[in-house]
Amino acid sequence: MKIQYSCGSMRHILSTIFLVIGLGFSSPNSEAEDSSATQKALEAALPAPAVSPSPSTDASVQIATDKSKVSVLGYHDFAHRQAATEMLLPTPTFREQLQEIKDRGLQVITMQQFLDWKHGNATLPAHSVLITIDDGWRTVYTHAYPILKEFGYPFTIYLYSDFIDTGSRSLTTKMLKEMMEHGATIGSHSTSHPYPSKVKAAQEKGPNAYQTFLKGELIKSKEFLENHFGKNITTYAYPGGYHTPEMYPVADQAGYQCLFTVKPGMVTKDSPNHTLPRHIILGTYPSSFERAMRFVAIDKEQQRLAKLRKAMAHPVLPRPGFAIDTRTPRIEVDLSGLENLDPESLVMRVAGFGKAPAVYDPESKTFSWQVQRPLRSPQCNVTVSWKHLEADSYEKPLDWTFLINRSNSYLPLRDQAPEPTEPAPAEQKPLVPAQPTLEKAESQT
Ligand SMILES: [Zn+2]
Repeated sequence: MKIQYSCGSMRHILSTIFLVIGLGFSSPNSEAEDSSATQKALEAALPAPAVSPSPSTDASVQIATDKSKVSVLGYHDFAHRQAATEMLLPTPTFREQLQEIKDRGLQVITMQQFLDWKHGNATLPAHSVLITIDDGWRTVYTHAYPILKEFGYPFTIYLYSDFIDTGSRSLTTKMLKEMMEHGATIGSHSTSHPYPSKVKAAQEKGPNAYQTFLKGELIKSKEFLENHFGKNITTYAYPGGYHTPEMYPVADQAGYQCLFTVKPGMVTKDSPNHTLPRHIILGTYPSSFERAMRFVAIDKEQQRLAKLRKAMAHPVLPRPGFAIDTRTPRIEVDLSGLENLDPESLVMRVAGFGKAPAVYDPESKTFSWQVQRPLRSPQCNVTVSWKHLEADSYEKPLDWTFLINRSNSYLPLRDQAPEPTEPAPAEQKPLVPAQPTLEKAESQT
């Protein structure tokens, strides 16, 4: 009955994904490498990376200098003539997308190249693409594979072991072996492709039961694929993108080096290997692919943030353009460099609050306000204005914007005096407003 499983029906997991994304983790420690002859032959056939490997052995230097970004695409099912659905991509569209990748001059890398880069053993061009296809639908072989072969693009198929050689819609071992000889890598997508509700039910039975469940999904599937195909399985795609921190040590124990979510975003060298972003390409939302190609727009966003880091006439906290970890910071201006200040005239305005009850300390000459209610927005603008003694008009106000780390938005509130007057929001709004299509992507696969 696994055939009836539809990734497209999992609309309810968005909030859960958000909650579990970004939790702390330790790096995978497996040294397993896929060194198959096929993989090597394929890599040899691919164009060499534009950037030569760095001789540096200092990991920190590499991290600091490696600005490469990889757009990981996640596909599912394909059709020739059928109308597109979220999880079903018409092959003409698929072909157009591969053509666009080619036209943009983007290199499509192998999973091994990706892993070598993540481990600091190789470099990549500034922008490259990694193609993944989830679930193991037969159309991967009948529809997508011929087009991928035509373009000479490598790809990774994420299989769940219960859905191989099962009925007419799954891939067969023979098909998989053929594709693996021509550019395909396989990875695990669990044993049974459990819905989040099934994962949560296992979790509720207690730590031991959950461990057994996770081992059955993460470790058994890896062992099955390795025995069945004689290949080292080094990566995992969370079914539906759903993951919890308990999965990370199990994944490490299994020897997975990289694990993929369905959270859209570009992978950088520093992206946590347990929760790598991936652009799920939805048949009915062309913008999901457009966004996956938007390397430059992200750079522009970073430039915009860099502009916020301006020099201030008077020292301020939190620093302009920098992110803080607390949502209840102390906002402070040091006005000791100011002559003839009329303290009575001081006004602090904070976005989302309006006029703040900030207090002037004549001794330190600071004007400050301890935020009490958690800031909701991932960025916060502050203005401080004043008049000089006996002046009629206000001086040009100080104006700056600081940021709040999204990854810390779920943390218990720190540094705050009284209890917050309202509960913390479950999730901060993203810095770049997410498009509706991307939220859809989060909720599916
Ligand atoms: Zn799936």
